[in-house]
Order: sequence, then structure tokens, then C-alpha cells
Amino acid sequence: MTHFKTGIEFAKQLDKTDVLSDFRNQFHIPKNHHGDPLIYMCGNSLGLQPKSTQSYINQELEDWANLGVEGHTQAKNPWLNYHEYLTGSMAQIVGAKPIEVVVMNTLTVNLHLMMVSFYKPTKSRYKILIEADAFPSDKYAVESQLRHHGINEKEGLILWHPPKGENLAKYEDLEQILKQEGNQIALIMIGAVNYYTGQFFDLKHITQLGHKYGCVVGFDCAHGAGNVALNLHESGADFATWCTYKYLNSGPGSLSGCFVHERHAYNKELNRFTGWWSHNKNTRFKMRDDFDLMPGAEGWQLSNPPILSMAAIKASLDIFEAATMPKLIEKSKLLTGYFEFLLHELRSDRIHIITPTNPDERGCQLSIQVKNADKSLFNQLTEAGVIADWREPDVIRCAPTPLYNQFLDVYNTVNILKSLLND
Ligand SMILES: *Cc1c(COP(=O)(O)O)cnc(C)c1O
Repeated sequence: MTHFKTGIEFAKQLDKTDVLSDFRNQFHIPKNHHGDPLIYMCGNSLGLQPKSTQSYINQELEDWANLGVEGHTQAKNPWLNYHEYLTGSMAQIVGAKPIEVVVMNTLTVNLHLMMVSFYKPTKSRYKILIEADAFPSDKYAVESQLRHHGINEKEGLILWHPPKGENLAKYEDLEQILKQEGNQIALIMIGAVNYYTGQFFDLKHITQLGHKYGCVVGFDCAHGAGNVALNLHESGADFATWCTYKYLNSGPGSLSGCFVHERHAYNKELNRFTGWWSHNKNTRFKMRDDFDLMPGAEGWQLSNPPILSMAAIKASLDIFEAATMPKLIEKSKLLTGYFEFLLHELRSDRIHIITPTNPDERGCQLSIQVKNADKSLFNQLTEAGVIADWREPDVIRCAPTPLYNQFLDVYNTVNILKSLLND
């Protein structure tokens, strides 16, 4: 591990030796009233806009203007196949095979579509297990699935809690739950990287545990995609979903990615909701054929997709392909490690980092708990030019992302926090 030093010179030196430093210039960095760039630590919430996004979208606007409906086949990037242009690089980012990946719908919609296929409650096995502090949308989705099947949500929902007084979930506790009631659990659905603590779970371990007890296992990778090495295929998970507007920089409300493990690719018995886009693409436009299901994750599509949103995703994925996940993760560990080091050097007893200290159990996020703080501290931080994220009652989440954050951003953030804490 690198020997970090305090002092601004060291931050500048890290930026100088950073092989990915040029990628920052490919992004629009938000500015303050004076035109100075803000310190953007919020890539976990909404990633920044690549400068290339506009031209990718303009291409499709132009083709639409010039070609109308013919754009489906005659556009520079024919729209009929547009989602396929995203599959290869998206599969690489999440560690999957192309047949296992599709970009479609939005995240919570895909969670529901996956549960239509993979949550099949019976009289004796009907419960769903999630982590205690799951993202609200996931919890609401799961609760509504239980209700949809006529199951009392209090009875049917099991929460995997961290030990009392702690923030991070422990695998022993998961094992204990499974030992006690694993034979009643139909589905385990966990956020691969917990949005609040930044804890990156061992997907393979959880999947193996779940499968051992006969449960289906799926992951919400919203905070993992483009951030950590998910290795979805290797993990053996049955399904996964994620959004593309956080670390994948594809714009507010952009589409979601979906993974269905290869072992389910040709299983036509697996019940699902379908539409014309789940039909064999070679005969789709004959329109009168009996339904012929497409194999792989593509077979879960319903509609012809929004090309403008996909153009933004394509712009972003091309940047990821140039940077590559291994290099991004290498920088990410350095960036977050440096952040952690500087926070420790503050030697403030008001600060407690709740994110795991092990670099393999986290991505580019530190959740900083500040004793006796309220939102005014966070407002001052914003005022001072740091765009981070506040979670009640006392946690500041910061995500230094390797594509566009500098080591200097981290240095400045800690310096500003220091002065605020001393006020
Ligand atoms: C961001 C996020 C969501 C948001 O869902 P949308 O359907 O895209 O609005 C859901 N779940 C998790 C875990 C998230 O991090």
C-alpha cells in the first residue's frame, strides 16, 4: 500500500502520476457563481455529463429529423439494434457474458420484472430476505411483491441486520438466519454495495450460501456498476439489476442494466412478462407469428427502447471502454485510501468512518459519521464548494470517482471539513 503523506504537494504529486488524469477533461464539471469548478463528490448519486454525450444524442436527433421512421434501419446507428451496441461493454463492466446482459427500462421496473420470474412463492417457501438498510425503492418493491402474492409483508419480509450498535452486516448473521428459516426463504435480494455504508458484499459467498438453502439470489448493483468488480457471472447469482445514472454517468433517470445468469438463458419455462421486444428478433416484424421467445437476458425486454437515453449510455460506455475497469478500480482504491488517510490524520474524535476499512469491501465511497452534527454542517460544506450527500441523522457520503475526481479534490474536501469542525 502506498505510503500517503499529508500536505498539498503530495496531492499534486498523486495527480501528476495518475495515468487516468486526462479523463477528467472529458467531463463537464459543475461550477460555482464565480465560474470555479465545484468539488463533485456525488457520482454515487448522479454521475457527471461526458462532453461527448451531446454529440451522441445529436446524431440520433439528426437521423430522426432527416430519416423519420427509416432511421430504424437507415440511421448511422440503426435504432432497431441500438441496445446491442451497449451489451458488450456493459457486460464487461459488470463481469458478465453478453448473453447475460441487456439494457432496458428503469431500475425499479427491472427489479419487479426479475421478481416476476425469480420470486415464485409456495405455501412453505415464500419469504424474501433483504439487508436491513436497503435502498427504500428496493424495500417498497419487495413489500409490494409480497402483497401481490397475498402474503403479509411483515410476515414475509426478513431483514439481515448488522449486530446491535454496528453499521456493517456480518455473514455469520446471514448464515444464522438461513439455518433457522432458510427453507422458508424463496428469494434473497441484496444491494451489492450498500448505498448508505458503502459496504461491498461478497456476491459469490452470499449466492453460495443462498443456493445451499435452496433460495434464489439476486442483487441490486446500482451502487456497484462502474464502481467495483462485480464479476456477476462468476458470482453465480440468478439475476441482477443496476441503473446507469450513478457511476455510469448516463444522465438523470437513464435506463437500467439487467443480468440473468446464463443457466437461465434458454429456460422457456421460467415465467415472465413479455412484449414484442422479447420476441425472436428475426421474425418480430412479421407481427403475426406465435410468440417465439428470445434466449438470454434480451428475452426479458418488453418495448422498443428510448434511443436518446441509450445514446447517452453509449457515450459513457465508450469512455469506460477506454479507461477500463481494472485501471479505474486501481485508481479508485488509491483515491479512497488517500481520503481515509487524510480523515484519520485529522485526529478528530467527532469523525467516524462507517464504510469498511478493507479496500476489497468497498468502492469509491466513504460514509462519514459526524458526532453532534446536524444538517447545518453539511450545508456549510456545500456552501464551501463541496457537493456531497447528507443522510439523516449525521452521515456525509462522499464518493471520489476515479474518472473525474482528482486527488486534489480529496485534499480540499478534507481541508474544508477540518476548518468546519474547528469552527
Ligand atoms: C439509485 C437506486 C435506486 C433507484 O431506482 P430507480 O428505479 O432508478 O429510481 C434503486 N435501488 C438502489 C439500490 C439504488 O441505489
